[in-house]
Amino acid sequence: MRIAHELQHTLQRIDGSGYKAYKDIKGEYDFGEFVLIVDYVQGDPFASPSRFRVKVRQTQAGFPEDAYESPSRRKAACDFITRRFFDAAGRFAKGVHASGKSGTISIDRPSQEVLDKTSCFIDKSWVETRFTVGLPAFGRRVAGKLAERMLFEQLPKIVRYSMRYENLDGRKLNEHIKTVEDADFLRGRLGEMGLVAFVADGAVLPRKSGVDPRPLSEGRVVAFSSPKSLRVAVLLPNRGKITGMGIPKGVTLIVGGGYHGKSTLLEALELGIYDHIPGDGRELVVSDFSTVKIRAEDSRRVEKVDISAFVSNLPFGRDTKSFSTDDASGSTSQAANIMEAMEAGAKTLIIDEDTSATNFMIRDHRMQELVAKEKEPITPFIDRVRQLYQDHGVSTVLAIGGSGDYFDVADLVICMEEYIPVDVTRNAKRIAEKYKAERAREGGEAFGSVTERVPIAGSFDPSRGKREVRISSKGLHFIVFGTHLIDLGAIEQLVHLSQTRTIGDAIHYATRYMDGKRTLRVILDLVAKDIETKGLNCVGSRFAGDYAQFRPLDLACAINRLRTLAVRQR
Ligand code: ADP
Ligand code: MG
Repeated sequence: MRIAHELQHTLQRIDGSGYKAYKDIKGEYDFGEFVLIVDYVQGDPFASPSRFRVKVRQTQAGFPEDAYESPSRRKAACDFITRRFFDAAGRFAKGVHASGKSGTISIDRPSQEVLDKTSCFIDKSWVETRFTVGLPAFGRRVAGKLAERMLFEQLPKIVRYSMRYENLDGRKLNEHIKTVEDADFLRGRLGEMGLVAFVADGAVLPRKSGVDPRPLSEGRVVAFSSPKSLRVAVLLPNRGKITGMGIPKGVTLIVGGGYHGKSTLLEALELGIYDHIPGDGRELVVSDFSTVKIRAEDSRRVEKVDISAFVSNLPFGRDTKSFSTDDASGSTSQAANIMEAMEAGAKTLIIDEDTSATNFMIRDHRMQELVAKEKEPITPFIDRVRQLYQDHGVSTVLAIGGSGDYFDVADLVICMEEYIPVDVTRNAKRIAEKYKAERAREGGEAFGSVTERVPIAGSFDPSRGKREVRISSKGLHFIVFGTHLIDLGAIEQLVHLSQTRTIGDAIHYATRYMDGKRTLRVILDLVAKDIETKGLNCVGSRFAGDYAQFRPLDLACAINRLRTLAVRQR
């Protein structure tokens, strides 16, 4: 390791040289109060910025051991430090006016969720942050003096502000840690309590807007309040006893008039797979980690999925036990989404009528009379939802204000009335008894099996131009895999750009396990196991600070949407 002074010398020496001269600063430098590591130096001021790390010895950083003694706590502490670093970078790294993207210090942007990320690491020896620096330039020449100012004045301020325990609000850090620990604990208890989700009393579910995920604060905001019959008490490690609504395994309907909060509740459940920051309002809204939002997604590609549980007798005798299309319809896409989710291990499905294909959800008596079953390929979800639970243990939470036929197949009916849930199960069952649904059941007695698929490695080509592997992400919803665009626009449970980026690299990583024999499920598990033992960086770039957690289920979603994907059915 070199001393910081040498870095200073180098910057002075290359000042005014061509931008490539910055390559000379790669390496490790001892700053006394921290170690600075320059892992990657950008080729020009307009390219993606250089990758840096800072490590502070725990003897100097001084974080108490209970801030990182468990995975939950470590995740929370790292998230807290990342947020602090992010704030500090905004505050201290400014006033450097240079060309291109140069002159900036940035760390992965925090969100409402607390995610496992690679922007920060903490253990008993070190605290480490990973961030980028846009090395400053004038035109395409090294702006050495500005770089010196960034690395020797601004950066130490940021490090002191965010990576030393004495300089941060210990009470806030503690609250962050305890909130996350409680949520993880609560999620971990769901199974044994027989629940798929839990919504704490007092939770604030609505968001500021469709594009602003912070809690709604203007106007009247109705805090969540559980109906007595569904009220469950839980003892949390930090907060102690709390109460809230437990949603049991099985089939749950969310009904209620338009605009009474059905979708808002469902959206909170969808994101209940994540921990939320203190003040979010959904800190104690949790759902089973394998919960998948299912929706219609017309025009997506489908590769050899057995959708025969939902679709059969297609025109011209097209096979639905091995259904492929480059342009799925609303109903076939929704069927494929369910089968793929089950193949990848989903145990809870969330479905909102707002984003479903009507003909997939329901076929009423009159329509059954008019169009004979032989001429209707679709077995609607209403005839499968119970079998899903009975035969496969897959629960469904369904928001549907438009069809009372579902009363027959529900275990529980919750009605949202002015944002307050009411248990109306009895009433719904009474009505179902009084006005017998005249529709005939369709599709037979059993759901049938889920056909597993074996992905073919050769169908994954990450190359573009001269580069053998070229994978990038565009915003939250697109992965550019080689020359192919993967559209994740319908994957509503992704919340962070870094998840999309990580999943892109993980697709390529997963191909190492595709031997023509292993099923997708087995491959997903192998990738997940590697991440667990080696860390998120194993899927790609070793020191990248912009990777974030994703689930095997999310990786499956991306693989299934690669338009070149080829599989063999097992
Ligand atoms: P639905 O799906 O029943 O039609 P939504 O969930 O879309 O209703 O909610 C309608 C509107 O009410 C949304 O703008 C949402 O932000 C707002 N809203 C939802 N829950 C609450 C609440 N608890 N307090 C205040 N406003 C809410
Ligand atoms: Mg709605």
